[in-house]
Amino acid sequence: MRRSLLLFLTLPLAAQDGVYDLLLKNGHVLDPANQRNERMDIAIVGRRIAKIGKDLKASHAKVVVEASQYYVTPGLIDIHTHFDSQGASLNLIPDHNTLTSGVTTAVDAGSSGWKNFEAFKSKVIDRSKTRLLAFLNIVGAGMYGSEVENDVNEMDVEAAAKMVKKYPGIVVGIKTAHFQPATWDAVDRAVEAAEKSGTIAMVDFSQKPGRGYSDLILKHLRPGDIHTHFYGRLTPQLDAGRKLQPYMIEARKRGVLFDVGHGSGSFWFRIAAPAIEQGFLPDTISTDIHRSSIMLPRANMITTMSKLLNLGMTLEQVIERSTVNPARAIRRPELGKLTEGGEADIALIEVERGRFGYVDSGHGKLIGDRKLRCVMTIRAGAIVWDSEGLAAEEWKAAGAYSNFK
Ligand SMILES: [Zn+2]
Repeated sequence: MRRSLLLFLTLPLAAQDGVYDLLLKNGHVLDPANQRNERMDIAIVGRRIAKIGKDLKASHAKVVVEASQYYVTPGLIDIHTHFDSQGASLNLIPDHNTLTSGVTTAVDAGSSGWKNFEAFKSKVIDRSKTRLLAFLNIVGAGMYGSEVENDVNEMDVEAAAKMVKKYPGIVVGIKTAHFQPATWDAVDRAVEAAEKSGTIAMVDFSQKPGRGYSDLILKHLRPGDIHTHFYGRLTPQLDAGRKLQPYMIEARKRGVLFDVGHGSGSFWFRIAAPAIEQGFLPDTISTDIHRSSIMLPRANMITTMSKLLNLGMTLEQVIERSTVNPARAIRRPELGKLTEGGEADIALIEVERGRFGYVDSGHGKLIGDRKLRCVMTIRAGAIVWDSEGLAAEEWKAAGAYSNFK
């Protein structure tokens, strides 16, 4: 009773009359957060999902999208991206590289620090259709080259924590990356700033003498902190016989999270395949998308998900790790699921069957039989990507030029 009253109060008048702006009809809804895995209809009014159910009336909708060929999932969440396009040269602009892959929420992973985050916010975050969030780099100037990124004096815990607290709706945690000196300064300061701001740390790590990987995940990271690039070659997840190291399982039991962070150099089939075979799946799937990784290894979200599908993960596992899991990891549990009354962030995904080639960071090829393709993305109720014209009218029936809106 209370729930329906709340829905009544939060929806515009049109929905109460049963008029939907958009109706997704007969799609296979895959929404792991709500254990939905069946054919259902989704009705949208304004920015929000008005109703999820069976046999919603098409005659009540302004636009009907026939979705029976597709999976309908929550908008995808990519928690490792680089979109501070005003800053470092490797960054991309967000919307073209997110919405085309079904990503409606992207988290920039430390491209900026406390000194330049606000410029990133005003010039990119505030202007994007994609919901853009951020990990703040523990380095004040962010990813501004090795000179500042290796300088411990650039890592001001207080200033970083203060900036995180200033933007709690946008900044989800602290990032450290690329730190070459063989000390723990960067990791420990990032974790300290996360602790002080009540958030999490995401760590890009390379093992050095005296700075071992097992110490990172068993001692330095806290439960909820994230090791990104964990199928990369700079950390020893497997022993010489390609068997999973016992400390990986121990760290997972502690609550440390393992994120893909594909990137140019950090996703090797030679590591991922044996790990997945031994049951060690990623907690979250992400791309580390930037100007270089988007090219040869094709590290966009939908391709990264396709690679993991062809490495033996099920579609359900892949979607779970691209929606509800990343939402929980960044402590935004309202995201990554389909909720009546919630913001309508949705992806329509086709599973193509055939023979497809995929390339990893080590220039290794994987031949697979399935390929995921995002055919439609809806962000806050608006169709922002529609590669098949599913919501468009057949051109012969579209009428005069003046009908164009
Ligand atoms: Zn990165």
